[in-house]
Amino acid sequence: MTEKRMYNCPCCGNPTYPVPPKDDIGFICDICWWENDTFIQSDDEPSDQNHGMTLNQAKDNYKKHGISAPHLLKYWAENGMKP
Ligand SMILES: [Zn+2]
Repeated sequence: MTEKRMYNCPCCGNPTYPVPPKDDIGFICDICWWENDTFIQSDDEPSDQNHGMTLNQAKDNYKKHGISAPHLLKYWAENGMKP
């Protein structure tokens, strides 16, 4: 069984979401690792689910590092996952 993914991630813009982002609480994008936060009202509002990072900061990080939160790169390296 494969999930159909057709909704764009609010952070990286890739179609990684199986349902619209506003309906999917806590979904973590497997490309940029942004954790979906349905409670933020704007891209400038700190997201509790993303350690107080705003969506705009996450987008910036994704552009520069290919991931929403650069501290996760260390985790990836330690666990042998792709950076
Ligand atoms: Zn994403």
